[in-house]
Amino acid sequence: MINVNLELTDHCNLRCGMCSQSLRDEAHGAPHQFMDWDTWVALLKGLEGLDDEVHLCPHWLGEPTLHPRFEDFVEYAFAVNGPGRLFAEFKLHTNAVIFDEARSLRLLRLANAPHVPPDCFQSIHFSIDAFSQASYLAVKGSDKREKVYRNVKRFLELRAELGVNRPSAHIAFVVQEHNASEAGLFLAHWGELLSSLGSEFDLTWDWPNARRDAIYFRPLNSGDQSQADRLHAQVCRELGLVDAAAGERLRAAGSF
Ligand code: SF4
Repeated sequence: MINVNLELTDHCNLRCGMCSQSLRDEAHGAPHQFMDWDTWVALLKGLEGLDDEVHLCPHWLGEPTLHPRFEDFVEYAFAVNGPGRLFAEFKLHTNAVIFDEARSLRLLRLANAPHVPPDCFQSIHFSIDAFSQASYLAVKGSDKREKVYRNVKRFLELRAELGVNRPSAHIAFVVQEHNASEAGLFLAHWGELLSSLGSEFDLTWDWPNARRDAIYFRPLNSGDQSQADRLHAQVCRELGLVDAAAGERLRAAGSF
């Protein structure tokens, strides 16, 4: 299996302190760009006939939903993929700032469309990372907390209203100094909502199972990695995700 990240754009609408994208005007040594249509078509075509099973994500740096033709690109990928010719699994990463009801509905309908193999559009990773407005501002460099919470809540409600469970939702929180004290509030908020909608979600300190909803407490990648790992492990202990024997660094083999 290989993970393929095809970056639709390196533009972003947030300025997360933990993100190298947000700290540079030129994320790849060139001005930020949006992928053009012909490049997308050619890249997808290039996946044909690979020996390995492909897991595709239209993101690396930047926020993919900022692409002016985001839905067209994603829908085209599934149209040419057919029964899984090019990729077996697809996952989206987003900060959910531009994620209104129309976008949620379009993605939910796509993931559950008859021409899309079951479990192909597996998950959406929502990078939220804060509970309070103050913490959101400190971590994400923006005042979009209310909008993001509303958007993700509405996505989950729409999925329940449609009676589908694809794509699964990964509600993510990168543990760091500015948000560690409110990890429990974050867990309570999203846990209550997921439970009320009938989701049997996982709680995890490493990359979630793509086929299930999860609340994911992720370690910060940092210049002082030992300190970041200790804080992450401490928060996960306090939340009951691990016990004291788990140690000061919680990472599965090969995780990043
Ligand atoms: S939303 Fe994602 S890409 Fe944008 S600054 Fe934050 S971590 Fe970086």
